[in-house]
Amino acid sequence: MQNSAMFREILNDHYANPRNHGLLADKDYITVHLKNPSCGDDLTIQFKLNGEEIEDIRQEVSGCAICCASASIMSELLKAKTVSEAEAIIHEFRLMVSAEPFDDSELDEALCLQGVSQVPPRIKCASLAWLALQEGLDNLEQFKEHKHNDENNQDNNEAKSV
Ligand code: ZN
Repeated sequence: MQNSAMFREILNDHYANPRNHGLLADKDYITVHLKNPSCGDDLTIQFKLNGEEIEDIRQEVSGCAICCASASIMSELLKAKTVSEAEAIIHEFRLMVSAEPFDDSELDEALCLQGVSQVPPRIKCASLAWLALQEGLDNLEQFKEHKHNDENNQDNNEAKSV
């Protein structure tokens, strides 16, 4: 791959300088926590909707470089997108890392992660943040209810393993 050196540089930059890093204690944010036991990645993302727009995304990862860089790239790429735009990009990302034909027009820096499709143990690392956002979007009502019921017990939402 002729771009591999540039891709590696972008990944290293996201790993060293993660974008949108750190969680907020803001009840307007929906929080999703996922784990990838096969690698030890432990990821939390938060996002805030403003109508149909994803107004903000926050992320915090304890895990491998691929997982951290991917969460940073996801947070930057999908912020300020509408829910349907974000879902379409997540879909193309998942096709890409599965080595399926995909549309690269909206993936931007996420294209740096294309190489993981050739390294099966890394696919979950690269996908975790994108799966977490999709899970939040799929379960908006449930997460809102959960927030409402457990305002004083943040740890009640046990991390799920994927
Ligand atoms: Zn990992």
